[in-house]
Amino acid sequence: MLQQFPTTGHMIAALRPEVSTYCICRPALENQAQAFLGGFPGHVLFAIKANPMNEVVDALYEGGIRHFDTASIGEIASVYDRYDGVIPYFMHPVKGWQATHDAYHQYGVRHFVIDHLDELGKMHDILGDVDEPPVLVIRLSTPSKDAKFNLSEKFGVGLDEAVTLLREATVRGFPVGLCFHVGSQCETTDGYELAFDLTARVLAASNAPIKCLDVGGGFPAPYEGTNPPPLSDFMAVISKRVKALDLPSDCQLMCEPGRALVATGMSMVAQVQLRRDNVLYLNDGVYGTMGGARLGLHFPTRTYNKDGEVSTNDLGPFKIFGPTCDSLDVLPYEIDLPSSIAMGDWIEFGLMGAYGPAVRTEFNGFKPEHFCYVDEPFT
Ligand SMILES: *Cc1c(COP(=O)(O)O)cnc(C)c1O
Repeated sequence: MLQQFPTTGHMIAALRPEVSTYCICRPALENQAQAFLGGFPGHVLFAIKANPMNEVVDALYEGGIRHFDTASIGEIASVYDRYDGVIPYFMHPVKGWQATHDAYHQYGVRHFVIDHLDELGKMHDILGDVDEPPVLVIRLSTPSKDAKFNLSEKFGVGLDEAVTLLREATVRGFPVGLCFHVGSQCETTDGYELAFDLTARVLAASNAPIKCLDVGGGFPAPYEGTNPPPLSDFMAVISKRVKALDLPSDCQLMCEPGRALVATGMSMVAQVQLRRDNVLYLNDGVYGTMGGARLGLHFPTRTYNKDGEVSTNDLGPFKIFGPTCDSLDVLPYEIDLPSSIAMGDWIEFGLMGAYGPAVRTEFNGFKPEHFCYVDEPFT
């Protein structure tokens, strides 16, 4: 069981951490889970790649999440082995042979995404003669509009190929579905509108009686310098467009949020290990938890010294180096911090729950060594 503190300030006072420290906020994670479960008219699958830390997934499970978007046998096993009553879905369009076999036979997976005829052939070779054929979900490639990260260049098919795949999968005895991912961190709802336009055309052209429609992830987190619409706007667009599709009554609607479920659920506390004029050397950086900075994400900050939080009345721009010996280990932009910031002070970076902890490296031996719970989120 991790230590629990009312606030990050209490944690810093107690631990004075000199290695980067993660503050996990369970109430924030449970709230986000409930916002999705209450607002989305279908199953909510957590895209576990966004943050696979046990403490984080546990909190989402406590919040009611039971469905998981998984992309590897490792992810499938991690939720299947740890939780009761959960359903993993194999949402990677390109899968290994053994992984496909084990997902179905060992872990009870009944939904697999595909986006190529040869992958359909693979599914047929491995699962063509099972009693309960899985749903093959065809991934559409949708225009990436107002998304920070495009996810349709690597995977997905257009109208004609989708129609072919729906037909060929049906011929081989598989129930079928459709899915898309409009891109991560969508700062408007336009991407979803365009994806529903394509979905409607595919359904009109194929007449396929789809068993599921999966509208993917992409819901935004409120990073610094962004002003995304509230979750309710996304839910309203999706509900309206789903209604207009007039889907079969046994068609299950699903979404796969990653970032929006977990971003606000964790902050990271780094220590200033040296100040050289307006340059700070921290113990976490872009090879660690802040890789998202290289992709253009800006995180909110709070500064603490040993007496508590430092006032932000007098701010100045600082260049931030991470801890490794690589000179590329630098934030790609300066950040405004209290001018008085000094060696030994701490900077808390908010909105660190999505992807940062999942993709961080241990380059040069630097890694977070403290994990704790805090009651108050920092967004
Ligand atoms: C990464 C991913 C998600 C989660 O996307 P977010 O933008 O983090 O919500 C959902 N579905 C698939 C297939 C993904 O690859």
